[in-house]
Amino acid sequence: MNGKRAVVVGASRGLGAAVAHRLAAQGAAVVLVARSAGRAAEVARAIAATGARAIAIGGDAARYADMQRVMAECGAQLGRPDILVNNAAVIEPIGRFVDTDPAAWAGNVGVTLLGAYHAARAFLGAGDAAGRVVVNVSSGAAHKPFEGWSAYCTAKAGLHMLTLALAAELGAQGLRVYGYAPGLVDTGMQETIRASGINPISRKRRDELAPPEVPARIIAYLCSEDAADLAGQELDYRNASLRRRAGVPPLA
Ligand code: NAP
Repeated sequence: MNGKRAVVVGASRGLGAAVAHRLAAQGAAVVLVARSAGRAAEVARAIAATGARAIAIGGDAARYADMQRVMAECGAQLGRPDILVNNAAVIEPIGRFVDTDPAAWAGNVGVTLLGAYHAARAFLGAGDAAGRVVVNVSSGAAHKPFEGWSAYCTAKAGLHMLTLALAAELGAQGLRVYGYAPGLVDTGMQETIRASGINPISRKRRDELAPPEVPARIIAYLCSEDAADLAGQELDYRNASLRRRAGVPPLA
């Protein structure tokens, strides 16, 4: 990925930070975006210490103007981005549907679904698609409802359709779009889920969760031209051939 520039939205910790590390290890210059600019800057410093180019930009994916600013700053500092990883999402509000607060529910959709739309819309600008890549980080929750997660499941289902819609409209012009559901990953989001105790996922032990470096390696592989034949679809962590191609161990 030498010479490529990648924007990772939601990169201050967890899977997004691991994706930024991996893309940088493969030669890309990376832009780390999160609301907590200080934490994103710490991750960027750790990546830069390995000799790679990394910058952090504070921004809220729920705000389109922030994502426009991120793409403009990337353009000014590094050059036009080639790769966008839409990793930002929130799990909350967690709770029974009849207890949900409408503003909190909309807030989830505003980040988990609209945030990805905002970043992709700003990334693509007037529509220059050829040779560029968007990876939307999906979830099993896009395809299966889980008790207490109505907002998150609904937003991830919408994100799945955004992947397909982008591929249908811009795939022929050379945009490679992927959805990737990483399985259960040992991150802060899983801590929040464990604390809720609301559904079977909350009872998973930490040793049942994948380390972020494993799905990060697969997401970075999807960003590479080697994965071009897989563009336009949603893939998931159970895909044995993809795991082999990306160089991660098979599932037990
Ligand atoms: P996490 O530990 O909660 O990290 C989420 C990241 O997104 C943080 O860097 C956070 O930084 C950022 N973020 C949240 N809201 C944002 C906003 N409005 N604007 C910009 N950045 C924002 O979550 P994770 O587990 O690593 O999840 C990463 C992705 O994997 C998500 O799309 C999640 O849905 C998906 N996923 C995770 C699991 C799992 O088991 N962990 C399973 C399936 C899918 P700030 O708070 O500083 O903004």
